[in-house]
Amino acid sequence: MIQEPIDVGVPSVVCKMAPEDTPHHLLIELVYFAEGAANNIYKIRPWTEKSGRTKAVLWDSATQTIFTPEASKVLRMSKGLDKTPDCRQIKLGYEEYLKRLFKGPNVDFTEHLMDHDLVYVEHAIVSDLNSQVGSSISLRQRNGVLTQEYFGLLLPDMSTVPGSSFAIELKPKWLAQSPTAPQHAARCRTCAMRASKASKAGAKSHGYICPLYLVDGNPEQIKPWIHQKVLDAMEEPLNPRLEDIIVTTMADYLTSGEGHKLLLYLRWLQRRLDPLKSDFLNPRLGAPKDPPNPHFWVVNLCLTMTLRDCSMFIIVHYDGNEPRVESKLVDLDFKSSQKQYDWRKKELLLVNGGWYKALDLFSGDEPCKLFARQERPIRYRW
Ligand SMILES: [Zn+2]
Repeated sequence: MIQEPIDVGVPSVVCKMAPEDTPHHLLIELVYFAEGAANNIYKIRPWTEKSGRTKAVLWDSATQTIFTPEASKVLRMSKGLDKTPDCRQIKLGYEEYLKRLFKGPNVDFTEHLMDHDLVYVEHAIVSDLNSQVGSSISLRQRNGVLTQEYFGLLLPDMSTVPGSSFAIELKPKWLAQSPTAPQHAARCRTCAMRASKASKAGAKSHGYICPLYLVDGNPEQIKPWIHQKVLDAMEEPLNPRLEDIIVTTMADYLTSGEGHKLLLYLRWLQRRLDPLKSDFLNPRLGAPKDPPNPHFWVVNLCLTMTLRDCSMFIIVHYDGNEPRVESKLVDLDFKSSQKQYDWRKKELLLVNGGWYKALDLFSGDEPCKLFARQERPIRYRW
């Protein structure tokens, strides 16, 4: 799997202030749209007089021309937080390690990947982007945002087009149990982490599904979850009959169609790449003392953790006769190896805190498939 490193080089595309004489149809503006833990997303729109925003252009330094994207795009910028990659590193990790996992002699899942176009963003544009962040994020993030690097990524825009298409985001997370979970666990890794977090901040059951159900192939099991996701995604209510057809089509896609194949493949990759054994949790041990190939060991660990933290966008096109569904994987950001100590610490807390065994006082709506399969644990009586 490991081949010669790919040099992403200097991007030929520059996002910069528009020169005075730029034709109106080539002007763009960047508008804050959304944010994740480590990134902000800005929509790229044609500039309008009314908005009064900064006039920007996309400049191709290879052809020395200004251009506009062929399809709707967004600009993703890193916040520059500790232990998170900047956009050049994301591009490098994607090209060098992630992309090639999805195409082999007998598999080809590259239709689910998206182009990552690296773009250099001029300082004046960065100032404009920063000025839009405002009060929607915390001071810590505001202070850290976009201060370290001026590279961004141009990505396809998957936001809703009323009457035509919409997308829901799902996080596949740990599609198989952690190899370092205790025997007879009552929760999978994702549900154990959720329960641990809920003990501090309250459970967030809205929009949550146990990943083991997600990959299980049972449409009736995931339909209520999909239905809620569709309701959340739509700005205007759908015709009830169309809504029902869309939910059924999406459930079929994820339990027996292409989406199911992709989820199974992700699970297979997560298992195959995970180099951990139970001795990972021994406090005296970190990485194995003498792994056959230390570089390979760490790369595989970072890859499997990357695949457990990516997102899958399920895109529904419903302007034709039959709804059509496709999916794209996003946030395939190769994890920093510096995180391995954090991962180990988290796993230790889950194991030692009894979160896998559900020893905490749980409510009746425990979502984990492993829990549902078990007899309810007998609570201790004193
Ligand atoms: Zn679970």
